[in-house]
Amino acid sequence: MLHGPDDLRVEQVAEPQGEVLVTIEAATACATDTKALRHGHLILGPYPARFGHETVGVREDTGERVLVGDSVPCATCAQCRAQRTQLCEQMTWVLGGFAERMAAPAAALHAVPDGLEAAGAAMAEPLAAAVHAVARAGDGADAAILGGGTMGLMLARLLVLQGRDVTLCDRHPERRAQAQALGARAVERLGRHELVMEAVGRPEAWRAAIAAAAPGATVVLVGGCPAGCDVTLPAAPLHYAELDVRGAFHHTPAEVERALELLAGGDVDWRALAGETIGLDALGVALVRPSAGEARKLIVDPRL
Ligand SMILES: [Zn+2]
Ligand SMILES: [Zn+2]
Repeated sequence: MLHGPDDLRVEQVAEPQGEVLVTIEAATACATDTKALRHGHLILGPYPARFGHETVGVREDTGERVLVGDSVPCATCAQCRAQRTQLCEQMTWVLGGFAERMAAPAAALHAVPDGLEAAGAAMAEPLAAAVHAVARAGDGADAAILGGGTMGLMLARLLVLQGRDVTLCDRHPERRAQAQALGARAVERLGRHELVMEAVGRPEAWRAAIAAAAPGATVVLVGGCPAGCDVTLPAAPLHYAELDVRGAFHHTPAEVERALELLAGGDVDWRALAGETIGLDALGVALVRPSAGEARKLIVDPRL
């Protein structure tokens, strides 16, 4: 339970209340969880708050293995009616994967394909966001990705699968090697590209993405900057080079299903992105440990 910024406690709590109870087998962590621990997060709700949003387990009522989707769109707001459910104005967020059990609305649950391990299936949540971002990317054949974290690497793999020419930029040699293993070229500095996808989430990275865009390029901003952040961008390329700058946020339930297929079929090798498996007691320390070397996702197994 999060009791406040940097105040994470492992404790016995009341039985979770909700439509379906799920016994958790794996919950993967990402930068959003670190952000939530350190500074709180818009989607957290009041303290004490449960968190963890990339979760797989077993339904207690049917025994079925499920991915617990982290959100259920309302289906009735203007965005939902326009098929942009990722932007639902009344989203129900479903958090609480860092626990032994959680409760979820049935509408949040996705069946896990046979043969896909829990930790791999949990990665369908971030992979769905990558699927969504690539759907926003247009059709530029010469694609660049700024940032070789797990999101940047997922984007690289999806663009490679589409047959694009993919260059990933990261200053860590270990991450460049990971990108190469996924079929991308890897560099320390970008040239200019038809498509640039930013996967860092810092103002200087957003500016670097604009600088790496060829005239007429599409720039997709995938990494979220800190809350309340203003970013200054150069006016000239936005206007004279007709850059098409787009945000990409979250995913739709259909994109979660697509991500599960990609993981189950082996098109996206989740093991290449899997890091250490830890128990709940080790989570607080692991989430704030500075990341170095390869980009790999922390896996929480509450049974450890
Ligand atoms: Zn995440
Ligand atoms: Zn809605």
